[in-house]
Amino acid sequence: MAELERTSASQPAAPAEWAYASAPEARDIVRLADRYGHFVGGDWLEPTETYATIAPRDEEVLATVGQGTPADVDRAVAAARAAYADGWSSLPGSERAKYLYRIARLLQERSRELAVLESLNGGKPIKESRDVDLPLAAAHFFYYAGWADKLEYAFPNRRPRPLGVAGQIIPWNFPLLMLAWKVAPALACGNTVVLKPAETTPLTALLFCDLLRQAELPPGVVNIVTGDGRTGAALVEHPGVDKIAFTGSTAVGKEIQRRLAGSGKRLTLELGGKAANIVFDDAALDQAVEGIVNGIYFNQGHVCCAGSRLLVQESVYEPLVAKLERRLATLRVGDPLDKNTDVGAINSAAQLAKIRELVASGLEEGAEIYQPPCELPEKGYWFPPTVFTSVAQSYRIAQEEIFGPVLSVLTFRTPDEAVAKANNTPYGLSAGVWTEKGSRILWMAQRLRAGVIWANTYNRFDPSSPFGGYKESGFGREGGLHGLEPYLEFEE
Ligand code: NDP
Repeated sequence: MAELERTSASQPAAPAEWAYASAPEARDIVRLADRYGHFVGGDWLEPTETYATIAPRDEEVLATVGQGTPADVDRAVAAARAAYADGWSSLPGSERAKYLYRIARLLQERSRELAVLESLNGGKPIKESRDVDLPLAAAHFFYYAGWADKLEYAFPNRRPRPLGVAGQIIPWNFPLLMLAWKVAPALACGNTVVLKPAETTPLTALLFCDLLRQAELPPGVVNIVTGDGRTGAALVEHPGVDKIAFTGSTAVGKEIQRRLAGSGKRLTLELGGKAANIVFDDAALDQAVEGIVNGIYFNQGHVCCAGSRLLVQESVYEPLVAKLERRLATLRVGDPLDKNTDVGAINSAAQLAKIRELVASGLEEGAEIYQPPCELPEKGYWFPPTVFTSVAQSYRIAQEEIFGPVLSVLTFRTPDEAVAKANNTPYGLSAGVWTEKGSRILWMAQRLRAGVIWANTYNRFDPSSPFGGYKESGFGREGGLHGLEPYLEFEE
């Protein structure tokens, strides 16, 4: 407790400083095994190669997991094919729905355990995994459970049929949520799945296998093979896979598209972004500042739709940046398992190196940097919340996805200029518009080339709302009715 200080005889006593006491979430709810294999055909398959997965907050080794080989992928695909043929694909939708509802309820029941593990293995603040990742993951299973027996109504007169075995590759920024985005619609449509989690964050996917057993999902319907990009490549190239769903970097997405050309396999790509968060001079500035902070510092900026380019109308540039810098100084950076933490650990050493390299390029090219004073822990991977001003559109920090807590601020004078600048990247995943005028929101939304546009808010997700990009942000949609289509074929 801070010491009390009396400023004058007539004033009430106030603490000399308002430091937050630490509020750590207990981690003993998570019981980790020393070693994990691959989850194939409802059983654990002993891996031939392994690697250690760590906690980015302090580099503690959490467990040893399998590095999936082409032979492991082959067994997983065979298990998925057998489960598909042995009844999953012909099960009535109402029966498939029961499993999905069960999984959704188990995600809710075991949400604290999963949230702690997500923060431990990935580095994100516990308040985010607890209040965003887990509720949304459960919501996705509930939502697609609802569609499983209504596919004929969703696509009238088109006779929807499942595709077969879906190969799914997910990134490390929302490990369990990305799993839910991929697995729930695939299963609802009657497909079976082989999923590869990201190399750095396999643990919640492996704990999820325990939930699948609890839900008594038939063996082989969901198979999980861990490993790095080589495992992902083996899954992409496996001839027994009917569809690939990939979320990750644009470079790897392009490579996958090249490899699948001519193979007849279906493909959806959810890739990077460099979203513009656009603030007009009539916006509620305090509210906009909260949206900007949520847009870029949520999950350390490891968000494909992060509002990483702030476009501010010139007349409010100075007050807005002043408010933003004041707000940044109040962000608490530190232990992901502390309930007061706003910005957690960077996911990996490689990602930290990438952020540092891009930040150095910003300084070299002439941008001005602001970082609030904050003490970073000595061990682990950390980067302070950062704002760059005096940024030109040509700078790398205005063009490339940094995927870290780094915001680039640019200005504009007219709505036309805002649109031109917002669209001036190879990406087209998301955007934000802050204004009090509804007509301006609609005018902007018609012109911004982005899959998702938030108005007077940012980073809001709902399973019923489709998500996906234009241009180099990929193709195909996840979520909503649109999210069913990539997992179906139609007899038309
Ligand atoms: P990747 O695109 O490499 O990773 C995404 C997934 O693909 C991971 O599971 C990865 O495995 C796997 N993978 C890697 N190479 C291949 C391959 N040749 N064939 C099939 N699968 C493969 O992203 P990174 O983790 O390397 O991150 C790099 C950058 O990508 C980030 O800095 C960020 O800019 C961007 N990114 C964007 C994301 C988004 O949501 N749009 C998500 C993650 C990253 P492994 O885990 O071993 O790499």
